[in-house]
Amino acid sequence: MIEPNSAIKIASSSPLAAVKGMNDILPAQVQRKERLPDSGLWLWFEDAVRKVLAAYGYQYLLTPLVEPTALFVRGLGEVTDIVEKEMYSWTDTMNGDELTLRPEATAGIVRAMVEHNALYNGPLRLWTIGAMFRHERPQKGRYRQFHQLDVEALGLPGPDVDAEIILMVRRLWHELGLVVGRHVRLELNSLGQPAERAAHRAALIAHFEAHASQLDDDARRRLHSNPLRILDNTKNPAMQPLIEAAPKLMDFLGPESLAHFNAVRAALDAVGLEYRVNPRLVRGMDYYNLTVFEWVTDQLGAQGTVCGGGRYDGLFEQLGGKPTPAIGFGLGIERLLLLIQELRLPLPDAAPTAYAVIPDAAALPRVLVLLEALRAQGVSVQMHAGGRDGPGSMKSQFRRADASGARFALVFGADEMAQGMVAVKPLRGESAAQVLRPLDDAAGWAHELRTA
Ligand code: ATP
Ligand code: MG
Repeated sequence: MIEPNSAIKIASSSPLAAVKGMNDILPAQVQRKERLPDSGLWLWFEDAVRKVLAAYGYQYLLTPLVEPTALFVRGLGEVTDIVEKEMYSWTDTMNGDELTLRPEATAGIVRAMVEHNALYNGPLRLWTIGAMFRHERPQKGRYRQFHQLDVEALGLPGPDVDAEIILMVRRLWHELGLVVGRHVRLELNSLGQPAERAAHRAALIAHFEAHASQLDDDARRRLHSNPLRILDNTKNPAMQPLIEAAPKLMDFLGPESLAHFNAVRAALDAVGLEYRVNPRLVRGMDYYNLTVFEWVTDQLGAQGTVCGGGRYDGLFEQLGGKPTPAIGFGLGIERLLLLIQELRLPLPDAAPTAYAVIPDAAALPRVLVLLEALRAQGVSVQMHAGGRDGPGSMKSQFRRADASGARFALVFGADEMAQGMVAVKPLRGESAAQVLRPLDDAAGWAHELRTA
């Protein structure tokens, strides 16, 4: 709480701007395209998400943006990029609680499921969309507040659901016009089980210790805390030969883990979904086991991962719940929409179908009756609303009509209205001429607008 006499200085005259790395998502007319896609694209994406997720029986949930800091420290692991340096954490001055703005969604969802004993009656398939917060260096495709679609299948051991959840993402790509293989690619790996990882980890440490002089600072720091993350270091070319030569986790997997992985692969092969097994795919959180995957693109530079996920069979127990197998993924919405914008894929038209031009405010009551009747017939209409001095000139109204992107102007001229008619004037396309349509029979001609 900021007390009136507190030491915090608030400049009264300088204009206020959004926090660095946190963006406004605005309508197309005002969004600066080079920054981020407009809000229309967001809604279009959400529509596709709802449709696809419903087709697989997923249900929607919302969890808080703020969670106890301990949730992420325990859930994600202490030696992860997120917990080490990316969390927005603070102490609540009212009661001393340690709180954090969620950097990811899975831990909060698992916390909620445990708290409500939600899996009592069996497995759940869940999804949510919302803001995540990470204190990173802002750049294209990387922000401090960003948004994710987050999907979780809880209480199911796989491998069937592992394949299904990956296929669901493919269906989402299809729905959005993205072509697998051309625009996005699937990378797959298995992280095995904790004991297998421990054996691999020991071999990894031995390998890097044997070549200690070649390690960079980052690798040296991670050697005993999280050596797996050294494999993920793609930024330093000098480290690559050593990383290439490192023991592969795949060689440490026991028969059950291998069978799980092979079953996922067989299912993807059966439906013709191409993927690359990437033994270096380890993901940033500690909670993953067995299947992990990423959907990547080459079009966004260093920020190439649009969707990443995997199995986390140990997380429920880690957070105080009963052992519960689970798999999920997070999809970065800004990155995905940047990709779609960059590819210039054909997008649906979000503009209203018609724009109502109203030369004389006296016509308003009859205009409103017709517009309501058209909307009841499924036609979207934007009405010209005037200023203090009335509706404005025809010229300025038509300028607004053009700017709205509408395909038709409905012109409520006094002469036409005297005959019980409105003029329907096409705003786009060359040939079409204006026609008159009856004011009291929207149902009789609404389809001409809808299907044009
Ligand atoms: P990266 O390696 O790019 O930092 P990550 O492994 O930290 O990604 P996840 O925690 O797996 O990312 O989150 C899932 C998805 O969320 C990412 O694939 C990406 O699309 C998106 N994402 C993650 N961090 C950011 C960010 N700071 N800004 C925008 N999108 C992000
Ligand atoms: Mg990251």
